[in-house]
Parts: sequence; structure tokens; C-alpha cells
Amino acid sequence: MQPPSPRYAGYHSFDYLEPHTDYRVFELAPELGRLPRHEQGLTVEQHARVARILQSEHVISLHEHPKILTADPYELREYNHTGRNAMGFEGLARSGMSAYFDNFMNGTNCVTSEHGWKWNDVVYDLGLRFADVAQQDHIVLARTVTEIVAAKESGRIALIAGLEAATMIENELDRLDVLYGLGVRQMGIAYSMANQLGSGLAEARDGGLTAFGRRAVERMNKLGIAIDVSHSSDRTSLDVIEASEVPVFITHAGARSVWPTNRMKSDEVIVACAERGGVIGIEAAPHTTLSAAHPAHSLESVMDHFVYCVDLVGIDHVAFGPDTNFGDHVGLHDSFAGHLATAQAHGHVEHERVPYVAGVENPAENFTNIVGWLVKHGWSDGDISKAIGSNILRVLTEVW
Ligand SMILES: [Zn+2]
Repeated sequence: MQPPSPRYAGYHSFDYLEPHTDYRVFELAPELGRLPRHEQGLTVEQHARVARILQSEHVISLHEHPKILTADPYELREYNHTGRNAMGFEGLARSGMSAYFDNFMNGTNCVTSEHGWKWNDVVYDLGLRFADVAQQDHIVLARTVTEIVAAKESGRIALIAGLEAATMIENELDRLDVLYGLGVRQMGIAYSMANQLGSGLAEARDGGLTAFGRRAVERMNKLGIAIDVSHSSDRTSLDVIEASEVPVFITHAGARSVWPTNRMKSDEVIVACAERGGVIGIEAAPHTTLSAAHPAHSLESVMDHFVYCVDLVGIDHVAFGPDTNFGDHVGLHDSFAGHLATAQAHGHVEHERVPYVAGVENPAENFTNIVGWLVKHGWSDGDISKAIGSNILRVLTEVW
């Protein structure tokens, strides 16, 4: 974690409203200081190098949900039902990030529905978040590469709006235009379950990209929405990479060769993505990017996936999409196991349970520790710059 950005003026979510009168108040997890600081044994010089890199480079997370969870994960459903999730403005101000892809409530979005992914729920989620963001001056919605660069130059953080699946468009292509108009600049195809566009990673029979899915890819290309295949099945991922005229992201995943579950990507998909100019962001959500060498999920296991992917496709095609929030992420998975299809995604591979992923548990600490790891392991400034942000900017320049 870094000192707070000088630009941050102390705003907390919904400061513009009257608690209890204007909105229902939930007991939230502490935004900062829940866990001990992750120590990697860096020297004073190495700490200084980490701070300098975070200061000078574009530091972009390809996948986050930087909201503050309820203290009790079993209250999350009620909390999400109100549509109003508090965002970790202070944690973000200490993150060292200059931009991040925000994926909002994702499959846990049950404002009006029981199982999520509904059009009204997604619009509600986007609108409420943007209303909160509009009340302050430190986090800014970015829709262009110019806006990302301007945010960095002015000491602000760019929020890039993303959705993990396109399920909410149903059979309406124009809804992609509506979402683009609302500020969305990155979308997944299918989440774990299949939808009108293609198959998700939990499907036993992989139908690939549908005819409608091909039209959706074409429309996203025309609009300038970056496509993410993190939760798509193998065939669907390969079909999308081939169908898209511009590079595709795998915003948050790891390598199946390092940990053999459906939630990880096959070498074939990672190579195909890279050959078309795309980037894979290495995931860190609990119990995903494990490795045989580090079976208790931590920064070390996450970096095993990073190193494997760099060896496979080169440093120009790897980034980080830690996929974290402020609060008990393991508890969130337990309370929403059905919605997120965590069991199908993890398959039947036995794994050690951890209470949290040491070193990459929340947006405030992720990049301090990732860059710390890269510095400690002798990576050059040039390679670090590519992995923490400039690879993503290169793809966005081509896609948007
Ligand atoms: Zn995800």
C-alpha cells in the first residue's frame, strides 16, 4: 500500500446523502488495515524502486471489483439487492494504480432478480456507481486512451467500465450501443453458463460462438468495446479471437498447464490470443491461480502463472487482472457459490483452502506487492512497465 494520492480529498461513498434516511446502512468490512502488511523482505533501495515505478508508469489493473463488502458475507445479497455498493475510494487512492477495469457487481447483481445478469439490474448498477463517482474528483470515468493518459498526468485514477458477460443484451444488438453510450468499454461474451452468444467455462458441451455471438463481436468491434473471454469456454474463446478484427483480452485468468481447472486457460487459447496481439491478465481471486509449487494460494502462486505465461507468449502479452475487492472475498464466494458457478469452474481438483490470498487480497495492496515481487526477482524496468500497464494501453489503442 502506498501513501494516499495528494489528489484524494477524503471522499467516501454516498457522502452526498443522509445515511439511514436516504439509503439503508450495512455494517461494512474495514476498507483498510484488515490484514497484516505483506512483507517480501525488500531492501530500502528496492522499496524506493517500487515507489518510483508506481509513480512514473501507467499502472493498470485489467480486472477489479473495488467495492467494500459487508462485514458479514451472508448480508451481501441484501446489500446488493439495494443496488448501492460502497466503493473503496480511500483504498484506491493508496493503490498506486493509475487506471483499472471496474466490473461492478457482476454475477452477484441481484437488484431486482434472484440470479443476476438482468438488463435492468446492470443499468441500475452502472448508474448508481457513476452517480457516486460524479460526486468527487479523484476517480474519473475513462472512455478513451487520451482520458486514461490525462488521468495519470493529473494524479487521478481512470475507471474503465467493464462487464464480465453480455448476457444482459439478450437478443438485442442495440443494447451494446446503449451500454457503450453509458460508458462501458469492455465486455465478456459468456459467464460460466452459456447464453445467446456462446458457451461459458462451466458447460460440459462446448457449443462455441453462436451466429448471434458473431454479430455481437462484429458490433463490439464497430463500437470499440474491448472483448474479454476470461469466462468463455475454450471453443468460444478461440472462435471470438478468430472472429474479432482487433485483439481480444483474457482480463483475469491463469494457465491451465500450471493449475488444471476450467477457470484457467489452455495453452492453445493463450497462444491464439497473443498471436492476434492480445493480452492475458493474471487472476488472483481466491482459489483460482494455484500452482503445484505453491498450493496455498498467495502472491507466489499467482506469479507462477505470470512466469509461465511470459515463457509461453512473451512479456508483451501478459498483464495483471487481480479481480479483488475490499472485504472477505472467500466469504463472498461461499455465499454466492451458485451464482458464480465456483464449483464447476474449479472442477474436482482438490485444493488447500486459505482465508485470503496473501499479497494480492485487495486493490490497495495488489500492485505494491506485484511490483515488489518483480523488483525482488530481478525484472527490468522495461519489462515491469509492459506487464503493469503499457501492454494494456497498446491493445486499447488498437481496439477503441
Ligand atoms: Zn470473473
